[in-house]
Amino acid sequence: VRAAVCVPGTGIALEECPDPLLEPGDVLVRVRAVSICSTDLKIARRGHFKIPPGTRRILGHEIAGEVVEVRAPEAGLRVGQRVGLVPNVGCGRCRACVAGLDALCPDYDALGITLDGGFAEFVRVPARAVQRGHVVPLPEEVAFEEAALAEPLSCVLNAHEAVATGPGDRVLVLGGGPMGLLNALVARVRGAGEVVVADPWPQRREIAREMGADEVLAPEAVREYGDGFDVVIVTAPDPRAQEQAVQVAGVRGRVNFFAGFPAERARPTLDTNRVHYRQLLLTGTTGQTAEHYRRALRLLPRLRPHLGRLVTDRRPLEEVTAAMEAMAAKRSLKVVLFPAGL
Ligand SMILES: [Zn+2]
Ligand SMILES: [Zn+2]
Repeated sequence: VRAAVCVPGTGIALEECPDPLLEPGDVLVRVRAVSICSTDLKIARRGHFKIPPGTRRILGHEIAGEVVEVRAPEAGLRVGQRVGLVPNVGCGRCRACVAGLDALCPDYDALGITLDGGFAEFVRVPARAVQRGHVVPLPEEVAFEEAALAEPLSCVLNAHEAVATGPGDRVLVLGGGPMGLLNALVARVRGAGEVVVADPWPQRREIAREMGADEVLAPEAVREYGDGFDVVIVTAPDPRAQEQAVQVAGVRGRVNFFAGFPAERARPTLDTNRVHYRQLLLTGTTGQTAEHYRRALRLLPRLRPHLGRLVTDRRPLEEVTAAMEAMAAKRSLKVVLFPAGL
């Protein structure tokens, strides 16, 4: 099978790879659409703590496709079925897993990180993922391209649940990349009264406005805009943005640290007096549960008018390297690859 193989930290090359070997309980999926995440860029450039140096890995964890082989008769899946994949698979036994929080399992596996992922014609879904309900049938009205976005969208639903975004809330999103824009859309869906997006790049601010933000700001303009936000979500991988979030959250404001940043970067200074005297709630979220993923799939049709703006490029698998470069240079927002053809 054709696949984009990555040696983390050194980049990606297209190769002909052996067919994935299925074991009892596994499911094989033909990848019809896979979107590129900034995590893929990070792994290709700098590696990942879960991937031993020198490992050859097929990246890609935002995957939609069709079932081509089922070695799990009890899974209720059939050949030809259209599915999306929840990428994180926990051990199934620890406290996090028992609560359905696979992404928080200390021993998780993930498609595109510890397991070969979706930058390929086919992806093997291991038995444990099948058993935990991570092969999710697509609603009929959701296209493959949209379904690829269910993964990032499910991370966003997790974040908004943590800060309980609600009707009338003033919401600030720091960072206007793909995740920032999705966070702004979900804030709107949850009834926010005001949605403000801050990003240093003028083009991104323009897109945020087109996608329905009430106000768009350069990061340095946030302070003077006002500090009474009910919800602040930090998608920019930047400690200064995290500091800023605490400064501009209003009384009983809820803050979500949505983005992580490289371990070697200096941590922000936390103004704990601000947290104390304003009774702030600071949260962080990472990944999703299978339930968030299902909810994301049902929400996608409502976001359809905006998704076309979010997906700036549609490319064959062969162009994965160029696509990632365009994302890194901020020429592209979300890029979707089509390994089975456009
Ligand atoms: Zn992702
Ligand atoms: Zn676990």
